[in-house]
Amino acid sequence: MKKLTALLAVFVLAVGLLAAGCGGGDKKAADGKDPILAKDELIVGTEPSFAPFEFPKKNSEELTGFDIELIQALAKDMGYKKATIKSMGFDALIPAVNTGNLDVGMSGFTITEERKKQVLFSQPYYKAGLGLVVRKENTDVKSVDDLKGKTVAVQLGTTGALYAEKLKDKGVTVKTFNTSDLACMELKNKGADAVISDKPVLQYFLAQGGSGYAKMIGTGLTTEDYGIVVSKKHPQLQAALDKSLDNLKKNGEYDKLYEKWFGEKPAK
Ligand code: GLN
Repeated sequence: MKKLTALLAVFVLAVGLLAAGCGGGDKKAADGKDPILAKDELIVGTEPSFAPFEFPKKNSEELTGFDIELIQALAKDMGYKKATIKSMGFDALIPAVNTGNLDVGMSGFTITEERKKQVLFSQPYYKAGLGLVVRKENTDVKSVDDLKGKTVAVQLGTTGALYAEKLKDKGVTVKTFNTSDLACMELKNKGADAVISDKPVLQYFLAQGGSGYAKMIGTGLTTEDYGIVVSKKHPQLQAALDKSLDNLKKNGEYDKLYEKWFGEKPAK
């Protein structure tokens, strides 16, 4: 009986050790390599109404866009068999990366000091910035300074929302929506006088029919860099993404994707 108990104890201990070794992406393997890099599948989170970066293909639930194709190419270069894309609200992405439900966040994320307190970013992969759009017939808004007494629509949890927040002191009313698309709908429905969102997304929206009722004002409000979001627990994943971004920039794949989605070569 004693023998059996001892045997059982050894067994329980072994199972425990195994579980500790394999479970969760948070622990390092014996060789010091982050287990997140040893998986077959990279789990990617995105908010999929942000064309041309992430959006559904026509009549399909499958996502496409510059971000989607770039992270798929990166995952391949990093040795993953596949990248699985999960959709969720933009403001849910950073928490999901930090709890380990996602390996990375790829969603047109601007690299900001505030976010850097919570997560790691890859090296910048796209130069963006905020833009201002109003309805076509509007003649009194020539710059952000003319927004006093007006209503601006923005997307929750974004740099555009932060920018608009600062305009509140100047007599601007801010309406917040879950997606940039919905903010633009509000402009169309005359529930807002302007939209502040990422300029490349607004440009795409205008080119895809938005110019029927809206127009861009000025050349842009800010310049921002996009980066891929990684948990602070996984610096090796950040380093691997950076290395693969370098690889894709060297082998021309990055330029190819950039030209496909933006119709021009990336600025050097
Ligand atoms: N670039 C903006 C930000 O990081 C918006 C991103 C988005 O809406 N997907 O806040």
